[in-house]
Amino acid sequence: MALDLTTDIKITWCPGCPNSQILVAFRQAVEEFVSAGTMELHNIVAGAGVGCHGKISDYLEVNSFNSLHGRMVPSLTGIKLANPKLNVVGFSGDGDSFSEGFNHITHAARSNSDISIFLHNNQVFALTTGQATATSPKGFKGGTMPEGSINEPINPALIMLTMGATFIARTFASDIKKTKEIMKEAMLHKGFAFVEIIQPCITFFDTREYYKERVYWLDDKHKKSNLDSAFKVARMNTADKVPCGIIYQTSKPTFEELV
Ligand code: SF4
Repeated sequence: MALDLTTDIKITWCPGCPNSQILVAFRQAVEEFVSAGTMELHNIVAGAGVGCHGKISDYLEVNSFNSLHGRMVPSLTGIKLANPKLNVVGFSGDGDSFSEGFNHITHAARSNSDISIFLHNNQVFALTTGQATATSPKGFKGGTMPEGSINEPINPALIMLTMGATFIARTFASDIKKTKEIMKEAMLHKGFAFVEIIQPCITFFDTREYYKERVYWLDDKHKKSNLDSAFKVARMNTADKVPCGIIYQTSKPTFEELV
């Protein structure tokens, strides 16, 4: 019988929200791993933080939980440390991990904890109706910044690269197949894997057209093991084009192996 990871809980994301595409991509990734015998369902744990993205744990028939705002990453590192056999993934938002929980995600990357983080980056606090996060562009107007954000945005992939994450990728939620493939690569990676998923919020900051015009996929010419190339690609996020794909991958001992 085919594995069914859906739950009975009604999906309350806005109709058309790209969070649903991320949900489908992850379900497909897990279904493929389990049906191929690569992973056992009871060995997969999916944490989620607070924000619109956080509802994903309700819609997945896997071991899952919601953490406090910004505290999903340390919860996951604790789970992985307690039972290294588990494949531990975390869903987070730009507000959850780059505004609230910034110190946690940067140190988990630095110590190469063997977990995978999928960042739903919609560049806005959407659940609380549209305030600026750390990844909102300069000039973004929201309830708390009616005259526009005065800060430059954080570039998540660049921060993760700087902090020593050993797998860094960017993807676009509307491409479900590529998002699923990148999620699978991240889950197979030994060490801290970070995937920034561009997830426009169609209600409070609709960037779908902006990204459709700019997203392109890295090809074989990009050497993902080359740190200089990875920095070049990660920095390009604010230019006219937004590169997606695996930006960087390397290996080094994990936190769990060293402690
Ligand atoms: Fe999605 Fe935005 Fe609606 Fe939240 S508010 S469910 S992020 S479209």
